[in-house]
Amino acid sequence: MSKYWSPFVKNLEPYVPGEQPKVANLTKLNTNENPFGPSPKVLDAIRRASDDALRLYPDPNSDALKSAIAAYHEVEPEQVFVGNGSDEVLAHIFHALFGHDHPLLFPDITYSFYPVYCGLYGIPYETIPLDDEFRIQVADYKGINGGIIFPNPNAPTGRFLALDEIERLLSVNNETVVVIDEAYVDFGGESAIALVNRYPNLLVTQTLSKSRSLAGLRVGFAVGHSDLIEALERVKNSFNSYPLDRLAQAGAVAAFADDRYFQDCCAAVVAERERLRRALSELGFETLPSAANFLFTCHQTRLASELAAALRERGIIVRHFNKPRIDNYLRITVGLKEQNDVLLNALGELV
Ligand code: PMP
Repeated sequence: MSKYWSPFVKNLEPYVPGEQPKVANLTKLNTNENPFGPSPKVLDAIRRASDDALRLYPDPNSDALKSAIAAYHEVEPEQVFVGNGSDEVLAHIFHALFGHDHPLLFPDITYSFYPVYCGLYGIPYETIPLDDEFRIQVADYKGINGGIIFPNPNAPTGRFLALDEIERLLSVNNETVVVIDEAYVDFGGESAIALVNRYPNLLVTQTLSKSRSLAGLRVGFAVGHSDLIEALERVKNSFNSYPLDRLAQAGAVAAFADDRYFQDCCAAVVAERERLRRALSELGFETLPSAANFLFTCHQTRLASELAAALRERGIIVRHFNKPRIDNYLRITVGLKEQNDVLLNALGELV
């Protein structure tokens, strides 16, 4: 804090991201990256784009990428917005679509960026408790005016809300924008993009960071009615008219062209997730059902904070949240089989 800061910045809630260690030989299971590398075709496309054309500005509209996403998800390119990771897409959504007159609603246990964006844009919000089994109850969200947002699958729980429940939510909330953040949907969820042409107030965000192994490239997108997309474009253009650089646009287009690789990686992560869940259960952990690439788990007798610290000493990083109700849980990213075995062996000695 400095006397030169504006009062606005002094009041901003600091956001603490998951640790990104510099040491290479750690078992890093803390920020839900994909353990598999990007598709070789994506790497080729990025290499091919690394040429003299880098002296030119990129396409400000990312038209080729929007067309690729639109074709993949069977919508029109005008229904697609792209940004530097879904975090940036979400920032524009909060700015462009959530107002100041009524509170925005989201679950009390959810993605920790939402309250940060509310602080940044001065948006009032209320949180709705998850039920006893960490599920979202759509009956709690009815006749809302200030917007609704949650991840599906939710983070950090991994629990998925079925599409018919999302429809039930939309049918009683047509006066407000409903945003479904599908960062993890490809690991066992079902996308609400299938509903966007029936609900003009529905916006769905996805990312290439998790299921497409491209967290380092920073590409995310939103799909919804073209009127909602236009609002996002206006806000984006007021900040920065070039959202995605040339390499990101080229790599992301190639990612949508290699569906086989994507499907195979997702299937391998899901299979490994279920093996990890069974092995954790044998060690006395109770784990929530997960449709994501991570598990949210609690040991019957050992404290999560102590386990996280003991794992850290052995070079294994998992995520622990110091928050009421979830402070005895660990969020463990599903790694490669060898990484998961390193974790399981360590836990076998610790519990
Ligand atoms: N939404 C949720 C629920 C997330 O967990 C994350 C990853 N931290 C994001 C959005 C943002 O991911 P990215 O900016 O890499 O697309």
